Amino acid sequence: MNWFWAVLMLFWTGGFAWAADNVRTALKHRHERKTELLEAARQERLAIEAAHRSPEPVCGCTHHLAKHDRQGRCHERVEVPTAWDENKKPLRYEAGRCNCQQYVGPQPLSRVFAEELTDRA
Ligand SMILES: [Zn+2]
Ligand SMILES: [Zn+2]
Repeated sequence: MNWFWAVLMLFWTGGFAWAADNVRTALKHRHERKTELLEAARQERLAIEAAHRSPEPVCGCTHHLAKHDRQGRCHERVEVPTAWDENKKPLRYEAGRCNCQQYVGPQPLSRVFAEELTDRA
């Protein structure tokens, strides 16, 4: 009956090695899933942060809100072409004012300073 035990031992050790291998792979996969989850959570947080941040107040004329006066007219200096070649490509530029009439970009949320609500008076 010795051969029987020998075969059994072979199966046991082989089977054990196989099982250990499986466990290792499973653990590795679980680790990978966990990192994936962490990464997904990070991406989500970044997306939320981006959504909460107010957009850059830039007008359709590509100039910042700060360049516009209260009437909405843009005061940014721009280069105005004064001469064109036969291909309608500007040859010369002259300093001019952006002729944007109204700021159309996003309005930044007014930042209101709120005092902490405390009972200490
Ligand atoms: Zn402008
Ligand atoms: Zn503008």
